Amino acid sequence: MHELPKLPYDDTALDPVISADTLRFHHGKHHQTYVNTLNSLLEGEEKLASLSLEDLIREIANDDSRGKMFNQAAQVWNHTFYWNSMKPNGGGKPTGALKDRIDADFGGYDEFRDAFKQAATGQFGSGWAWLIVDGGKLKVTNTANAHTPVEDGKTALLTIDVWEHAYYLDYQNRRPDYVDAFLDKLVNWEFAEKNLG
Ligand code: MN
Repeated sequence: MHELPKLPYDDTALDPVISADTLRFHHGKHHQTYVNTLNSLLEGEEKLASLSLEDLIREIANDDSRGKMFNQAAQVWNHTFYWNSMKPNGGGKPTGALKDRIDADFGGYDEFRDAFKQAATGQFGSGWAWLIVDGGKLKVTNTANAHTPVEDGKTALLTIDVWEHAYYLDYQNRRPDYVDAFLDKLVNWEFAEKNLG
């Protein structure tokens, strides 16, 4: 059985950048429903049910007959990663090892910020934007719907959910304003650095 993890902060903690209403619906309804649906799809699937979430995602990523299960599993993983990618009073420039890596691989924080904002605003429809490690280098990428760097064995450092349910109550159609707020006020660089390993 997979479980909905608790939010790493109080549901009012990101207000007003992300309101308590958004967090309650997004975590308590959307994320919870992905967990519940995944568990119901795993009933009677002893082998798949025994796998960790990451192993399950990789196991079924290329199996068209498991598309519905893949979507639930990947969304469960992506949302947990997204909650941890944010913190109250976060955002702005990273320091330490991550600053050095961003300077080396993007040419500086401003170049990283532009690339991340472009990936997040340029994802057509629902999806995610990511900072990942790919072949030893930091890269920005985006994925559609439930897709996740986990399925390709890439190391994710940070993500933003750009499904409309992530921002519509607070920003309506203004996705670029939500992305700016995420970058300037919410990013949890300590989490991202921990994922560097
Ligand atoms: Mn979401």
